[in-house]
Amino acid sequence: MQYFPMFFDLNNKPCLVIGGGDIAARKVSLLFRAGASITVIAPTLCDSLQGRLNAGEVQHVKKLFEAADITDYAVIIAATDDQQINRQVSEIAHQRNIPVNVVDQPSLCSFIVPSIIDRSPVQVAVSTGGASPVLARLLRARMETWIPAAYGKLATLMEEFRGRVKTRFVDPDKRRYFWESVVQGPIAEMVFAGKEETARDAMSKAVELGDNDVTGRGEVYLVGAGPGDPDLLTFRALRLLQQADVVVYDRLVSEQILDLARRDADLVYVGKERDKHTLPQEDINQMLARVAKKGKRVLRLKGGDPFIFGRGGEEIETLMEQGVPFQIVPGITAASGASSYAGIPLTHRDYAQSVLFVTGHLKDGSMNLNWTALVQPRQTLVVYMGLLGAATLCHHLIEHGMSPEMPIALVQQATTSQQKVFVGTLTSMPGLIDSSEIKPPTLIIVGEVVKLHKKLGWFEPLN
Ligand code: SAH
Repeated sequence: MQYFPMFFDLNNKPCLVIGGGDIAARKVSLLFRAGASITVIAPTLCDSLQGRLNAGEVQHVKKLFEAADITDYAVIIAATDDQQINRQVSEIAHQRNIPVNVVDQPSLCSFIVPSIIDRSPVQVAVSTGGASPVLARLLRARMETWIPAAYGKLATLMEEFRGRVKTRFVDPDKRRYFWESVVQGPIAEMVFAGKEETARDAMSKAVELGDNDVTGRGEVYLVGAGPGDPDLLTFRALRLLQQADVVVYDRLVSEQILDLARRDADLVYVGKERDKHTLPQEDINQMLARVAKKGKRVLRLKGGDPFIFGRGGEEIETLMEQGVPFQIVPGITAASGASSYAGIPLTHRDYAQSVLFVTGHLKDGSMNLNWTALVQPRQTLVVYMGLLGAATLCHHLIEHGMSPEMPIALVQQATTSQQKVFVGTLTSMPGLIDSSEIKPPTLIIVGEVVKLHKKLGWFEPLN
């Protein structure tokens, strides 16, 4: 081991930073988070340090560094671009046994600063021993994605119960099992989903009952899978996918996303192809509740966002009625995905101040929409489930006063490598659809903004 890792208590300790530039500012920012009492020695300060000085967060000694400046400090950091000063600081600090770091010069340092993942009180420090800061930062970024932001809150809650748990579970093995089941089970999930009070109650109850396994409580995660590209999942969606026992999905969820589920998870397809719903909605609602009540962690994966034409509300209602715990994870809805990947901004200062999401689903061959609201000027219209009714849609829009020349785009399989964008006008689109081989899912965008596709289209699908 080249370096010995340590976590230093710098709270209220005098720390010296030499240098007033951006790099010094970054070190000051870290020391400040640790509660240090910071002195900066530098002839001038950058804006960010000046801001801290004005806020009373640092002391400033306005001068060039001299040897006599080094007195009793807990830590010294040199961040100047003057080699001579850096070396001098290092030498004096070494003589006096004061921990010293000279930024980016490991040979002059008595300690190095790691890349930090801060979920205080939980902290992870990554170091490559100065060999490659880039690598350390990369590792850190990876870990940031899978350590939930509320990990610190979980640790604080666990600390709060430490004494009670110790008294309740005298056997160390039983106690460890209890804590493991807290971290891996619904209590942790409640904290991560922002339900701290509920988590505290659940913890209290578990300790009271002396129940050392709280993992066996089922719950449902209603998760938006985004429009298709797996990179567009949220961190939380990915983490829950990797811990769910059962994944219930429908047609819109891509195989690549299902691949991210835990290897041994049960994958249940519930269909939802147009007009042949493999499982009626009511049965899906009931199934989610039933499986969760058996103690499973059920992840209901939905294309896009669960609360945008996703019937997420109905599924949650059933869970609520039956007292099954759940959480909802938003996803990128098809409108956002298609708009970005087709280079068609949904709003634009010159063309559209508002955007309307509607369903173009045909009921008994007709489309029951508020047409007057749909044809308003300077507005973008996004139509979900509109392929079959596209001709009807174009016809009604013209009939209600929209220009027959209004641009319209049909985005097929948006954000995937099969994405295709068809652009026309309200007059030409029905013919264009008839003469093209179009594959679902497709999203329709109507409005002046569609003109921008030619200029702003950037995504290069495989076809
Ligand atoms: N909850 C989903 C929408 C479900 S309704 C969401 O927020 O995106 C299903 C409709 O969504 C489809 O008929 C289609 O209009 C649209 N859709 C979903 N994914 C799409 C994609 N990748 N490309 C184009 N349209 C998509």
